[in-house]
This record gives sequence, structure tokens and C-alpha cells, in this order.
Amino acid sequence: MRPMESLTFEALKSLLKAPKKTVIVPHVNPDGDAIGSALGLQQYLTQKGHRATVVVPNDYPKFLKWIPGTSEVINFEKNTALAKKTLDAAELLFTLDFNALHRSGPMQNELEKNKALKIMIDHHQQPENYAAFKYSDTDMGSTAEMIYHFICKLGDKALINKAIGSALYTGIMTDSASFRFPKTTATTHRVVGELLELGVDHSNIHNLVYDANRHERIQLLGTALKNLCVLVPYNTAYITLSQAELEACNYQKGDTEGLVNYGLSVEKVDLAAIFIEKKSEGIVKISLRSKGGVDVNQFARNHYNGGGHKNAAGGKSLQSLKATVESFIALVAKYKTPKV
Ligand code: 5GP
Ligand code: MN
Repeated sequence: MRPMESLTFEALKSLLKAPKKTVIVPHVNPDGDAIGSALGLQQYLTQKGHRATVVVPNDYPKFLKWIPGTSEVINFEKNTALAKKTLDAAELLFTLDFNALHRSGPMQNELEKNKALKIMIDHHQQPENYAAFKYSDTDMGSTAEMIYHFICKLGDKALINKAIGSALYTGIMTDSASFRFPKTTATTHRVVGELLELGVDHSNIHNLVYDANRHERIQLLGTALKNLCVLVPYNTAYITLSQAELEACNYQKGDTEGLVNYGLSVEKVDLAAIFIEKKSEGIVKISLRSKGGVDVNQFARNHYNGGGHKNAAGGKSLQSLKATVESFIALVAKYKTPKV
């Protein structure tokens, strides 16, 4: 067993001077940041002469499948044998956009027993100590921005091209809700400025990610908005979506992404939740968003076996949808002082 965090940055830099077999793994149910950072890093490593393969724990939304490198991504859930073979051959294993091995979902066992040197690049709070090299920065708005800084720190800024830039732009844009969230800094804008100078087409990327909706997805948005409840005394809003409602709108992966933010857009609301019934998994998937000092990372850790960031977190409940909502309302009443 290797000692954890044994690798200095200088040692990693010199390791990367010779071609290596590398594998890049983002978190389960990958989002724009997970896929954007993984494919950005994959293309950079490939240019540098390494063998670099992205292995995703499971499928990801169609609106991300235009990102350069997508066609070579291996889906662990669908193509387990090939994924395992690739993982077994790895010398370096990059884990991106997650802070604990269980966040790789079905890949957890494989990652735990994998012999490759692990490199964590992530911006979530309370990272675990499984990696030989850990680049963790909770002040960063996205892992994709961290990949940009990581490449620059390795002295390879000149290798960042339009394809890498497009992948990283997608991660930065989606995790910042188009540069709205507080962790968007002057540096974030400078990074994005440099990406645009490489020819990254920001407007087209926005269209590809946000404006290519099936009409059923917009109908699902309608259902979500109809179901939005505001607990006025507690400045809290929540949305529910039952399995039947999802099926009525021909639910596809990624369709519920971002819906929770509508709760947070109600005046005075500083805590928003969405409860999504997943009968096949026997769970209710929960997403939480907040503003200011309301810490949803802690809330998700305490009550929903989850985690994330202070203002954006997730988890799950094993109770029914109805019971989950009832207990959420009781918890909110306990945590938050009603306004008079
Ligand atoms: P989302 O609500 O968009 O699924 O996730 C919001 C944030 O919380 C993301 O950074 C995501 O990685 C994290 N997150 C979501 N679900 C879970 C979970 O079940 N466990 C943990 N530890 N983090 C989660
Ligand atoms: Mn992220």
C-alpha cells in the first residue's frame, strides 16, 4: 500500500515527462463539469504523448455528447469488461470532480483496489485521503477551471487548444450557472477570456448545452414549476417530481438538471430543494441549493447521506416521496427561524 499524498507536484511533473498509461474517472451521473474537465484533461494528456482514456461510471446527458473526445469515452456500466481492462493497465489514475471514492458509484470497488497512482483534482468540501497527489481547492467554482490551472502549472499552457478549451469552457459555464455563482472570480473570467482567444465559440456551446431541449423536457419544466411550493416563513422552496410525472414527459438522463434553481429564484428564498422519485433505484434523489450562509453540504451530510458544496449539494432518501417531503418540512422548521 502506498502512503497517501506521497507525491509532490514536482515528482508528478517529472512522472508526466515520459509517456504513461493514464485513465481519467469523473463522478457517477456525470455533469458538465465532470465531463468537460475529464475530456479537457484527456486531450491535453494525449497531446503530451500519453495514452489517456476517460472511463465514466455511467451514462451522461446527450447535451454533453458533442464535446471533442466523446466517442472514445468508455462507459463502465455498459462496457464493464473493457473498462476493467483499461483500469487494470493504468499507471496514473486521475479522479475528477469528486472527493470520495464512493462518488464513483459502480466503480468504487475497482478504484479501491486499483494499483495505479491516484491523482485527485476536485473542488468539493471535505476531500478524502485516497490519492497519492491531491489538488483540492474548495474556492474554485469548477474542476474544469482547476484543469486549466493544472496544465499551466505543468508549464504546458501552449498546449491548450480550441478543443481542450471547448471542453473546459463547458465545465466552467455549467458549474457556475453561466458565471452567476459567487465562486466565479476575476481569474475565472480571465481564464475564459483566454479560452475565447483560442477560438472557443461560447455562444454555440451555450446553445448546445441549454437550447437543444426536446419539447418533453420543457413540459417537465412546466410540471416542476406547477409543483413548486414555497414555505414562506422559512424562505424555503421545494419541487417534487414523481416517477409518473417523469414518465409522462418521457424522462431522459439530464432532463432534471438545473430545475432546482427555479426554487432559488423566488424572492427572499435562500434554501431550495428538488425531490425526484427514482422507483427503480428505490430512492428519492435530492438536490439542494442555497444562498449566503445556509450550508446545504452539511444539511445533505446530516440527513441525506450526501454532500457537495456549501451552496450546492445532493443526496438521497430511502423513504417514499411523500415521507421525504414531510420530513424535509420538519427539518426546515427545526433549522430555520421563521420570519415574523
Ligand atoms: P446535484 O444536485 O447537481 O446533483 O449536485 C450538486 C453538488 O452536490 C455536486 O457538486 C455533486 O457532486 C454533489 N452531490 C450530488 N449528489 C451527491 C451525493 O449523493 N453525495 C455527495 N457526496 N455529493 C453529491
Ligand atoms: Mn464540479
